[in-house]
Amino acid sequence: MRIHDPSIVCKLAELHVELQYGAALSDLTSLGIGGTTDLLRIKKHESLPDLLSLLDAHDIPHKFLGGGSNLLVGDGELPWVVLQLVRPEPDVVLDGSLARVDAAADLGRMITFCAKNDLGGMEGLIGVPGTVGGALRMNAGAYGMQIGNYVREVTLYRSASRKVEILRGDQISFEYRHTSFAPDDMMLAVILELPSKPYKEILKGIRICNEKRRLSQPLGQKSAGCIFKNPPGASAGRMIDELGLKGLSVGDAQVSDRHANFFVNAGHASAKDMLALIADVRERVQKSFGVSLENEVVVWNA
Ligand SMILES: Cc1cc2nc3c(=O)[nH]c(=O)nc-3n(C[C@H](O)[C@H](O)[C@H](O)COP(=O)(O)OP(=O)(O)OC[C@H]3O[C@@H](n4cnc5c(N)ncnc54)[C@H](O)[C@@H]3O)c2cc1C
Repeated sequence: MRIHDPSIVCKLAELHVELQYGAALSDLTSLGIGGTTDLLRIKKHESLPDLLSLLDAHDIPHKFLGGGSNLLVGDGELPWVVLQLVRPEPDVVLDGSLARVDAAADLGRMITFCAKNDLGGMEGLIGVPGTVGGALRMNAGAYGMQIGNYVREVTLYRSASRKVEILRGDQISFEYRHTSFAPDDMMLAVILELPSKPYKEILKGIRICNEKRRLSQPLGQKSAGCIFKNPPGASAGRMIDELGLKGLSVGDAQVSDRHANFFVNAGHASAKDMLALIADVRERVQKSFGVSLENEVVVWNA
């Protein structure tokens, strides 16, 4: 979708929104898949309510992009624009055991920064790419921990009230790759409360988790992490592996031969290829195990 109306373009500039015409989502997602649309980069978070009113008034649909590491975006010209927060400087401010973090902050860099200041707890998340906002939305987790455990409060734009509000951690439900935020709520910042730990000890935990990832995941290939959620008490990857589906492909979309729940773009895969592979694997698992796998990857279909 393209914004041509000069009055909208002018208003965007007033709101400190940078308009990038025809951005390729394949360049902005870790899977390297996705068509083109206009990208609106928000330099001042305060302008978000006015920006959304402007888009609504002109019937311009939108999606919200973090780091693009959990997304499968459709091919071709996309029927919505994409909004993305620009990372401010500084993006993390520490106050005792509290870390005030901007939603656009890089998750890994934030964890490292906190670790260097003797604040730990999130060692397991060190290899999870993307932004802090994306991690909150997805309740990112790994190796027995999840970001939701450390959330003291979240500042967000709430679609229901059309206002920026603050929610306490205990007002939000964080479940396995699921949160109680409404689909159009947009995270702007978070306060995390982190346990004190000596840097050396945190570093040890980080190294162990990094090594586990290195040994089990196709880190050099384009992926969106796990494609499916694990069903209660089972492992999606194990079921796919037991069916001998590692290496199965549709075009350049392929089930990783390293980790059966990672599907990789082994060249120039399209969204159509990847969706066909996902559907095929889901059907085979359903037939053999009677389990209907739910997507962990967020699909933005054109
Ligand atoms: C190699 C690899 C390993 C991974 N390992 C893990 C893992 O161990 N555990 C895990 O949980 N995930 C893992 N992931 C998946 C992914 O990194 C996480 O889900 C990550 O938290 C997504 O953040 P993002 O900023 O990239 O979000 P995006 O992919 O940009 O967006 C994901 C969803 O969040 C929404 N969103 C993004 N930012 C905001 C915001 N500020 N406000 C509201 N909504 C927002 C988007 O609209 C979209 O619906 C992995 C991915 C890769 C590529």
